[in-house]
Amino acid sequence: MTFYCKNFEIGTDQCTKLHSECIPGRPGCVLEGRMALSEELQARIDKLEEERLARVQARGEEE
Ligand code: SF4
Repeated sequence: MTFYCKNFEIGTDQCTKLHSECIPGRPGCVLEGRMALSEELQARIDKLEEERLARVQARGEEE
């Protein structure tokens, strides 16, 4: 199966909607909750969430 997303920027593999790496199914993606995720994709999404939480925590400690 192939999939085309209008938010995918060819050449950079970036998502123009989320201004970040295209990881189908990630939070904020048009496919969020609409597809079954492979273990690999889920692991990438979990890593993104960990990084986001670390950034939030770091900002909180700066204030
Ligand atoms: S992350 Fe989702 S919305 Fe963004 S380009 Fe990829 S498939 Fe499209």
